[in-house]
Amino acid sequence: MSEDGFDRLRRRSADVPVDRPRDPQGRRSLFSVSEQPAAVGAVTVSCSSCGLTSVATPRQALRLAVPSLHLPLVKRGHPSWMRCPACGARTWVRLGLRL
Ligand SMILES: [Zn+2]
Repeated sequence: MSEDGFDRLRRRSADVPVDRPRDPQGRRSLFSVSEQPAAVGAVTVSCSSCGLTSVATPRQALRLAVPSLHLPLVKRGHPSWMRCPACGARTWVRLGLRL
């Protein structure tokens, strides 16, 4: 039932002409909503190197986490190896979710 609703929504948005923006303001406001970071679900990165805790959007965290290692069994305090947004070093960090 809900799947049918999604399908109908998607088909209607695909019918909107892309090359002729008749309502640029409306389109921009539509896009800005999807570009905004979510109010909940921010990712915190606690760095073992500089000791700071940074807050990143899930998208930023994803970029920082490539490449990354996650060894929760070996490194209990800071189990994730990735780039720290605060000091820029690739080091061991602890990831968290701010809800
Ligand atoms: Zn750091």
